[in-house]
Amino acid sequence: MTNPILPGATLGVLGSGQLGRMFAIAARRLGYRVHVYSPDVDTPAGQVADREFSAAYDDLDQLAEFARSVDVVTFEFENVPAAVTDCIQQHCPVHPSGYVLAVAQNRIREKSTLREAGLGVPEFREITSAEELRVAVSELGTPSVVKSATDGYDGKGQAVVHDVKQVDEIWMELATEQAILEQFVDFECELSVVGARNALGQFVHYGPFRNSHTNHILDVTVCPSGLPDDVNARAVGVARQVFECLDVVGVLCVELFVTKDGQILINEIAPRPHNSGHLTIDAHRTCQFEQQVRAICGLPLGNADQHSDAAMANLLGDLWSDTEPDWEALLACDVKLHLYGKAEARAGRKMGHVTALGESVDDADRNVREARNNLLNK
Ligand code: AMP
Repeated sequence: MTNPILPGATLGVLGSGQLGRMFAIAARRLGYRVHVYSPDVDTPAGQVADREFSAAYDDLDQLAEFARSVDVVTFEFENVPAAVTDCIQQHCPVHPSGYVLAVAQNRIREKSTLREAGLGVPEFREITSAEELRVAVSELGTPSVVKSATDGYDGKGQAVVHDVKQVDEIWMELATEQAILEQFVDFECELSVVGARNALGQFVHYGPFRNSHTNHILDVTVCPSGLPDDVNARAVGVARQVFECLDVVGVLCVELFVTKDGQILINEIAPRPHNSGHLTIDAHRTCQFEQQVRAICGLPLGNADQHSDAAMANLLGDLWSDTEPDWEALLACDVKLHLYGKAEARAGRKMGHVTALGESVDDADRNVREARNNLLNK
C-alpha cells in the first residue's frame, strides 16, 4: 500500500474543461496545488490552476515534464491515447488506470467487458462496414442506434436507423472504421450513479440521479430520482459492480436506462466526475470533485449524504444568442450559479450550470427552470 498523497502535494489533471476547473477548485480548497494539461490556453481549468501546460496530447516530452511536476495524475477528459497514460505512469501514479480508460474509450470494449461481468447492456453488434450494418439492422430491427465506437459524446457520431434503406447513407456520414449498433431502448427514464472508490476499496455513491436530455445533451438532473427504492438500490448495485469489476480508483459515472419493464441496462460509463453529479456541490455533504481528490490521493472518502432535494440545469451557449444573458435576473432567484469561464458561447457548448435546492424535487425542478428562463428576460 502506497502512502497517501497529503495536502501541499501537486495534483495533475489531463484535460482542462469545466470538470477540471471544479476539480481544481476542490483540490485547492484542500490545500493542494494543481497542474493541468491540454492543447489549449486560458482554459476553464487553467484559469484556476497553479500551472497550465499547453501542448498536444501526443507530445511525450511535454507530458513527461508535466508528469514529473506532479504527485499523481487524474483525468477530466478520457479520450487520450494509451501512450499518454503509459508515459505518465513512468513518473507518477495515474487514477483511474489506463485499463479503465481503455474500456471506457471504446463502446465495443465497454459493452463486451460489462456484459462478461454479468451486467445488463442493450443488445449490440460490432460494425466495420455498410454490409455488416445491414445484417445487424436486420437482426436487431428498427429503430436501432448506430454509434461510432470511439470519440462520440453528447450524441455526436451517432444516428438512429429507422429503415434498412438508410444504411449506406448513415454509414457514409458516420465516416468511421468501427461502430456499434445497439438495440433501441424504449426507456422509462435515464438514470446515472456517480461513485468514488479509493485504493483501499472504500466506496461511496451519489444518486441515482434522474436525467433528461434535449438533443442528446443533458438538460436537467434531479435527485432524489422519485423512483421506487428497489429500482434505486438496483441501479446503485450495478454501479458498485462496475467499480469492483474494473477495479476503479477515482470517480466514475455509470449512465443507465430503466426500461418500461423495470430492467436496468448500462448505456455507458465515464471514468471521471459527470455533468449529472454537478448538483453534489450544493446538495451533498461532500461533492463529487472533492471525492475525486480524496480517492486519487488515497485518503478516506467524504460523507456523500444528500442534505437537500435538488435540481441542476445546464446553461448552453444557445442562451447567449444576441445578448449577454440577464445574470441579475437569475441571481435574484434562490439558486446557485456556476460559470466555467469560457470566452466563446457556441450553440450546444456547456457554459455553466444552475442548481436549486428545494423542499421537494418538484420544487427544485420548477425553481431551476424558472431561474434559467429568467436569463432570457432582456
Ligand atoms: P450516448 O452518447 O451513448 O450517451 O447517447 C446519448 C443519448 O442518446 C442517451 O442519453 C439517450 O438519451 C440516447 N440513446 C443512446 N443510446 C440509446 C439506445 N440504445 N436506445 C435509446 N436511446 C439511446
